[in-house]
Amino acid sequence: MCGIIGLVSQNYFKSNDVIKMLKRLEYRGYDSFGIVTNSGLFEKKVGEVTSVTDNKCTQAIAHTRWATTGEVTKENAHPHSSCDGRIFIVHNGIINNYVELKEGLVAKGHIFRSETDSEVIAHFFEEELKTKPMPGAVERFFRVASGEFAVIIMIKGDSKLYAMKRGSPLSLGMLEDGNVISSDIYAFSGKTDKAVFFHEDEFAVVNEKGYEFYRFDGTSLEPVKKEITEVKWSSNEEGKKYDHYMIKEIYEQPEALERLYHSLKNGQKESAEKLKALMKSSKRIVFVASGTSYHATLLGVYFLNKSGVEAHTIIASEFRNFYLVDKDTLIIAVSQSGETMDVIEALHGMKARGAKIASLVNVPYSTIQRMSNVSVNIEAGQEICVAATKSFVNQVACLHYIASMFNGAEIADLPGDVRKVLSQENNIRDLAKSLVKSRDIYIIGRGFLYPVAREIALKLKEISYIHAEGMMGGELKHGTLALIEKGTPVIALINGRSEIVSNVMEVKARGGRIIAISNSGMAGELIRIDSDDEVSFSTAATVAGQLLTYYIAKEKNLPIDKPRNLSKTITVK
Ligand code: GLU
Repeated sequence: MCGIIGLVSQNYFKSNDVIKMLKRLEYRGYDSFGIVTNSGLFEKKVGEVTSVTDNKCTQAIAHTRWATTGEVTKENAHPHSSCDGRIFIVHNGIINNYVELKEGLVAKGHIFRSETDSEVIAHFFEEELKTKPMPGAVERFFRVASGEFAVIIMIKGDSKLYAMKRGSPLSLGMLEDGNVISSDIYAFSGKTDKAVFFHEDEFAVVNEKGYEFYRFDGTSLEPVKKEITEVKWSSNEEGKKYDHYMIKEIYEQPEALERLYHSLKNGQKESAEKLKALMKSSKRIVFVASGTSYHATLLGVYFLNKSGVEAHTIIASEFRNFYLVDKDTLIIAVSQSGETMDVIEALHGMKARGAKIASLVNVPYSTIQRMSNVSVNIEAGQEICVAATKSFVNQVACLHYIASMFNGAEIADLPGDVRKVLSQENNIRDLAKSLVKSRDIYIIGRGFLYPVAREIALKLKEISYIHAEGMMGGELKHGTLALIEKGTPVIALINGRSEIVSNVMEVKARGGRIIAISNSGMAGELIRIDSDDEVSFSTAATVAGQLLTYYIAKEKNLPIDKPRNLSKTITVK
């Protein structure tokens, strides 16, 4: 997934002003980047977004790439241009039939300079514009191109930018002296609070003074009136340096949550509604997931059941042993990468049985997304640390949001609650130091806190190399209590329910050491959560566990971002 941006202004701006905006889209990919301006700068580089040659201009398009087709090279970086060097494009998405389109264009004499699918767009428009004006060329592109695209086109000597969207996100921000088009609103955060979101198959003509939107209805482009959204901005952590990706990603969580909610209410509204309709029309709903994503689905099941929607979840590698699938079944696959082999295996052949497939993924265009009838992106942004942090929190928030579409439950201020936990970093770091020598840690929770207990245990195992067990509080007395000795650390997730307090007493009576993650004023070692809302509490408690794990591992000098024997995307069975 790439980030694209286009800026057109009444006043001169600097090429590096656009690059600064592009930098905010870097979470979408950063293997190479490039820019073209209307005053002659055309620069591409391999690597993350850094500054370019200074250039004053009134129009520019730029791109930060996450390669899908063609290696990471300067030639494959965007913008791509037509043979005559007049038309420049930046593209986010995949043109599935680019080989076929390219063959046709090569036969007409076009010379391609890159291995990407995207370059075909520049040549396509060069060819079409020979015989028809822009709207006709766009109509034909919508008709013949298959796949996903958010595209911005800049033409030499033309004061307008042209943009279109199918599948990939695109938004427009209204500036005081111009307009900006970009993959998401974060590119123009702080510069304007007025945004317009592209819907499916929309095309816009944008200049420094205004814009016009059109919708492709299958045959032609029809003008559409667009609603202007007032965007609420929050401060971000931009510029702050971190020792590891894990801590960086932990700190990105409030923003990632805001981005998700925003997109569910805007760009992804249709997909969320389509998912709801599919859920309503299915007799059985079953999640399939592995690892951390499985823990998110346990919470998903909890939230859905509370909304009156029965759902189940099965670990992907055991799916076939434990679940019957027929034409009335909806399978919801949850995977950060969208490439988890166990999940893909579970999905194979399910459509042939008549089942519908939905998915929640973080990486767009992934195999699982492409296998799905409907897919929602969890918008966590690129996650580099092998251990999932922000992707888990966004999966949970997304599943809760979907459940709330059934019962109209209010959405709490998750970003705010996460920030409150992050502000306890020093306290958590001290606690972590005291746990460094632990051989085993137990985590107990009930109800919606049981999946959180399991998620914290998984983090402790994979990042701090401490044996940990996350379990239902009520299960302790059925066996595991035998392992509690004087000083054994037990993290208790306490949301004011009296039953869990009884379990805490059972541990204390055996000399165990209780560390409470709690919203009640329990005495002793405590990480305080300021909310009793279930989704807020579960998210905040998870973040507390992430920080604790991170600082234990840091104290032990472990390879936090790349723990031994593990990999981010598990593409084996
Ligand atoms: N398919 C294009 C490329 O590989 C765009 C990639 C993307 O948007 O992820 O350059």
